[in-house]
Amino acid sequence: MDYKKYITVVDDWPKEGIKFKDITTLMDNGKAFKSAVDEIVAYASDLEIDVVVGPEARGFIIGCPVSYALEVGFAPVRKEGKLPREVIKVDYGLEYGKDVLTIHKDAIKPGQRVLITDDLLATGGTIEATIKLVEELGGIVVGCAFLIELTYLHGRDKLKDYNVLTLMQY
Ligand code: IMP
Repeated sequence: MDYKKYITVVDDWPKEGIKFKDITTLMDNGKAFKSAVDEIVAYASDLEIDVVVGPEARGFIIGCPVSYALEVGFAPVRKEGKLPREVIKVDYGLEYGKDVLTIHKDAIKPGQRVLITDDLLATGGTIEATIKLVEELGGIVVGCAFLIELTYLHGRDKLKDYNVLTLMQY
């Protein structure tokens, strides 16, 4: 399917010079959204996934229907202070400054096979931080799936050792 026609490119948001890829117009179309989720499920079905992990907030939107279809659990990765029980943390670089991502300490058991999902791969900072959390808990990242890849930001360079699927490239 040509998913790009369902993505709205918003100029100068959240700040000047950014061409924001808005996936809500894809989610709004039931057939396109289902088809995108189904493609990720098909990709993951050979990978023997034990758990799907996604960073907030759009990683949940993709990861939850995928985990439901695969009949495996979903573990959220969230900003600091959002998860109620014991967590591990990782610092990651943002365009300006730093932020922290966390995951529940018991979200992944050592040796579990993990699929990470997010809406978009840009610089790769978010996925890199999410991978660190999963690996610190002893999980094995066997796949990373995104709707969109911004190839000009070279996020894939950070994922050389990983299996990656992206459905659209800009
Ligand atoms: P990265 O860490 O630079 O790879 O940025 C990826 C993260 O930023 C993802 O979690 C995305 O949800 C978010 N993001 C960056 N640019 C966009 C965009 O144009 N549309 C939607 N999300 C974006």
